[in-house]
Amino acid sequence: MASIFTKIVHGEIPCYKIAEDEVCFAFLDINPLAKGHSLVIPKQEVDYLFDLDDELLTALMLFSKKIATAIGKAIPCKRVGVAVLGLEVPHAHLHLVPLQTEADISFSKPKLKLEKAEMENIAESIRGFLEP
Ligand code: 5GP
Repeated sequence: MASIFTKIVHGEIPCYKIAEDEVCFAFLDINPLAKGHSLVIPKQEVDYLFDLDDELLTALMLFSKKIATAIGKAIPCKRVGVAVLGLEVPHAHLHLVPLQTEADISFSKPKLKLEKAEMENIAESIRGFLEP
């Protein structure tokens, strides 16, 4: 069965999309730790990040760099943190989380509840800072 993230890539489940290229896709995490918390995934459905072949892993990291740079411009933060868990969704992904403090990337803390309009605004703002 296709993963939730594969369904998002195919438009079968809605998301607050940030960007995509031929092999990667980025969108807001639906339960964010901080405003701008985003997920970057390969379109190919592979469970474990370090099972990606070298070419795709490299593409994912370079794509994540573009997304993180735009997040850092759109969301006031000291830097954009990166985390890999994969305990919930078996489709490789990086979490990109704007950080003011170390606690901002603690996955055990309560998630933010943001209105749809705010999520749309955040995604739009990040998209506005993407380099062409
Ligand atoms: P992990 O697999 O890294 O432990 O966690 C998966 C992450 O995906 C969680 O932060 C969760 O909020 C996010 N997530 C799970 N389902 C969806 C979904 O349908 N849409 C979006 N945008 N994010 C999701």
